Amino acid sequence: MSALALGHMNPDTDSIIAAIAAADLYSKRGKDVTPAAQGKPTPETEFVLNKFGLTAPQVIDDVAGKDIYLVDFSDLAQAPKGLAEANVLGIVDHHKLGDVTTSSPLEAWIWPVGCTGTVLKNMYDFYGVEIPKAIAGGMLCAILSDTVMFKSPTCTDADKKAVEALAKIAGVDDVMALGMEMFKVKSAVDGASMKDLVFRDYKDFNMNGNKVGIGQLEVVDLSILDKVKAGLQEEIAKVKAEGRHSVFLLLTDIMKEGSEMLMVSDDPSVVEKAFGVKTDGAPVWLPGVMSRKKQVVPNFEKAFK
Ligand code: MN
Ligand code: MN
Repeated sequence: MSALALGHMNPDTDSIIAAIAAADLYSKRGKDVTPAAQGKPTPETEFVLNKFGLTAPQVIDDVAGKDIYLVDFSDLAQAPKGLAEANVLGIVDHHKLGDVTTSSPLEAWIWPVGCTGTVLKNMYDFYGVEIPKAIAGGMLCAILSDTVMFKSPTCTDADKKAVEALAKIAGVDDVMALGMEMFKVKSAVDGASMKDLVFRDYKDFNMNGNKVGIGQLEVVDLSILDKVKAGLQEEIAKVKAEGRHSVFLLLTDIMKEGSEMLMVSDDPSVVEKAFGVKTDGAPVWLPGVMSRKKQVVPNFEKAFK
């Protein structure tokens, strides 16, 4: 039975491409590994897969009894069913260490960089394995996506260096033009349901015993979302009503470099504690806030203590 390389729930480009790349690298190191995902690709990821001729990983929803490598997450809240009965052989990630644990030693590559793609690029180099052209293109896009074209505070020199090297392998001359093309695809909301939009990039967190959901939509211009904002507000109220303390939805303008945050919360004062902006539950503008991982989650975690 083949082991699986698997990314987080509501998969983004990084978790899909990282699964493909990790499966490729582990296979070339003599292990039998296939890529998997907890859902279908988003339009952004679809664009990246098509651009470089890559195939979307198989969708799985239960890993009981399976050997797995986790990519782009190590939090139980983002794991599929059956993880407790799975055998986690490795983790490749760039998030804070989560609460997944194992009964045997594992191979863990967790680096404080902007993207799992950057860690994988360095793993290929470490093992002296050549990166296939198509996978290099995918990893390059994953890094541009996760670092919001190097603008996110999560971006490091290692990410920029990796993009430079991957662009050469993939034969991409204008990296920023490719990034803009990808973010334009990501910005499109036509035809998507409110539920699709809220869950396109959504994660639940346990904050001091409170279930808190945080979603994010990244667009090249916030006005794109004017016509859906009221619908998004209604949709997050439904998600909150399923038993969460709060649901926040970040509408990130990647050109203005800030986020408007929609919210439904039992206690909106956590927003003031986290960001110093007073609100009774009405949306707030957070200048400079682009990263859920580095700016939003840590601030809320402090506010919930
Ligand atoms: Mn991710
Ligand atoms: Mn990532």
